[in-house]
Amino acid sequence: MDSDSSPTSRPKVRCPQCGTLTVYSLSNPWRPFCSERCKSIDFGAWASESYRVPTKPDAADIDALEQELERSNLQNRGQPH
Ligand SMILES: [Zn+2]
Repeated sequence: MDSDSSPTSRPKVRCPQCGTLTVYSLSNPWRPFCSERCKSIDFGAWASESYRVPTKPDAADIDALEQELERSNLQNRGQPH
């Protein structure tokens, strides 16, 4: 006898961060977390614990560097006169 077989029942997961039961659905961008906050907390802990890199250039820095390189390349190459 299964009394808990309503067609609208959705899979629920426990938020790994705070333990709140939250509906696991594609409409929840933070799944399996319950909220953005819990997700960022968990990610922050993960990043600082496992991947402690003292001096690592930002992706933005690398981007700027590449743009700079490209610009100087163009200047050196394309001189019509
Ligand atoms: Zn949570």
